[in-house]
Amino acid sequence: MKFKVIVVGAGISGLTAAYHLKNFGYDVEVLEALDAPGGRMRQVDLCGVRVNTGARMLFTYYKSVMELIHALNIEEEIEYIGMSDFVCQDRGQSYAISFAPDAGLLFNPALKLSTRLRLVNLLPDLLKARFATNPDDMTTSAYADNESMEEYFTRKVGADFVSKVANPLFRGARSWNANDVSPAFFLSTTAHMFGHKAFTFRQGIGYLNEVLASKLDVKYEVSVTRIERNLDNQGVTVHCLENGATTTRIADIIVCATEGAKIKDLVTSKSCEEEDFAGKIRYNSLGIVYHVLKNSPEHRLTFFTQNHSSPLAILESVPEKNNKPNLFCELAPETVKNVGEAGCQDTMDELIIEDSCAHYPALDKDLDYSVNQWIEHMLPVFYPGYIAHLDKFSVYQNSTPNSIYYCGDYMAQALVGGACDSGKRVAEQIRRHHGLAD
Ligand SMILES: Cc1cc2nc3c(=O)[nH]c(=O)nc-3n(C[C@H](O)[C@H](O)[C@H](O)COP(=O)(O)OP(=O)(O)OC[C@H]3O[C@@H](n4cnc5c(N)ncnc54)[C@H](O)[C@@H]3O)c2cc1C
Repeated sequence: MKFKVIVVGAGISGLTAAYHLKNFGYDVEVLEALDAPGGRMRQVDLCGVRVNTGARMLFTYYKSVMELIHALNIEEEIEYIGMSDFVCQDRGQSYAISFAPDAGLLFNPALKLSTRLRLVNLLPDLLKARFATNPDDMTTSAYADNESMEEYFTRKVGADFVSKVANPLFRGARSWNANDVSPAFFLSTTAHMFGHKAFTFRQGIGYLNEVLASKLDVKYEVSVTRIERNLDNQGVTVHCLENGATTTRIADIIVCATEGAKIKDLVTSKSCEEEDFAGKIRYNSLGIVYHVLKNSPEHRLTFFTQNHSSPLAILESVPEKNNKPNLFCELAPETVKNVGEAGCQDTMDELIIEDSCAHYPALDKDLDYSVNQWIEHMLPVFYPGYIAHLDKFSVYQNSTPNSIYYCGDYMAQALVGGACDSGKRVAEQIRRHHGLAD
């Protein structure tokens, strides 16, 4: 009988692991709770609006992603996208900023002159990070893991840089406050942006996952309820819920490629190392409201500072383009927390409608209907100290032949590039630990 591997989760990390394992000659089956592949990297129809479940754009510095695109021969499907500048609204003040630190910051009237001059202090750190870090693997950024990003920017540049630039940017793009995470993410990504481009696919962000899934044996609508090592150490039993019935499957190896927050409950026979690491993983959540408009608006993108009274982190007016025109309203981290605690995920639109009208007065007449999107596990939070825990667990996983392996963004980097790379790495570890006889 062939060596059997079950991969739980058909996001980019699970599909990448399965793709490489299949190429190495393993018998691979992928189990996915949803009815389609892609996890947090696909588009779905939500009450008539086409929305992203997560990732909007990829970067050409995602090495494992680029390798896959090349291997699958889908380069011609790449669609490069520009990074739009946007307005940031603070209390009583608004100013333009862009996604990556650029020369425009030197002239930003919202920053003190001393802060603008001290921006130069970031250059040696970015230069070091360009050579020292792998943006697909945060364990290479361990040296930048022992303070918060807020402390780092305050020390290097100035407190106003945190409140006026870094915090609104990270709240909007990642729903992280500058004191939630270490500077490792900023350094390991920003340093690699220069000379690279952002892109999606002509057929949508989920295209890569769809192509991968089409080459694999993926069973959809199979929700794994429990993963358990067999007592005699002979393989692993996977308990599932499919078509309303409970089923079990046995495999030699399991690759757990779910969101990291789920492994605590999913894997019931954890080793001490797994138990310890599972307790260290944190994810944030996100709430988004789409106010569908009757008329197509001009494109505008506004970020709000934490000091601003708006319950939003981002407000974007999205013109009609193969989709219904809408006002994209991303909730601020504090609002997300309140919604989570109150359990009002289905009525977030009611919570923000007044503020939306204040920023977009035409909404009163132009609103067709509103759609709420709640993402329970948005991104792993690389809080100061997390990389040390990740590093320890990664060394354990890499060096200890096992029957359960883990991959996903929380194992590498809070981006598609990291998730994909962790899937590739897990496949290589399994081949090294459990090589197939010719
Ligand atoms: C709002 C948002 C915006 C983002 N923007 C970007 C961006 O612009 N660029 C970027 O690079 N990254 C971005 N990201 C991050 C990126 O989307 C993720 O890091 C990446 O897609 C994670 O891939 P994964 O395979 O680790 O997990 P997932 O994609 O979450 O895959 C896990 C899969 O496991 C399945 N699963 C879970 N539990 C079970 C179970 N019990 N049984 C069976 N299946 C199960 C899930 O349904 C899912 O399909 C964003 C994320 C979000 C949420």
